[in-house]
Amino acid sequence: MGDWLDNAKAIEELERERSIAAQLAKPRPTGPSRSHCKDCDNQIPAARQALGGIARCTPCQTTFEKGNRR
Ligand SMILES: [Zn+2]
Repeated sequence: MGDWLDNAKAIEELERERSIAAQLAKPRPTGPSRSHCKDCDNQIPAARQALGGIARCTPCQTTFEKGNRR
């Protein structure tokens, strides 16, 4: 027994990637992105900033959205 654990972990990782992909695909608010993350103050990659309306780096945004869901 341990297969389901591996599975759960794989699903979790897939889920995370999917939420990031969904977030990138979502229509974003227009407007300038922040150059640095609102939460951790890390620099936001230019490719992410280019999306517009970005306030957080990817990890912080993921955490933020997870927190919203619960
Ligand atoms: Zn951050």
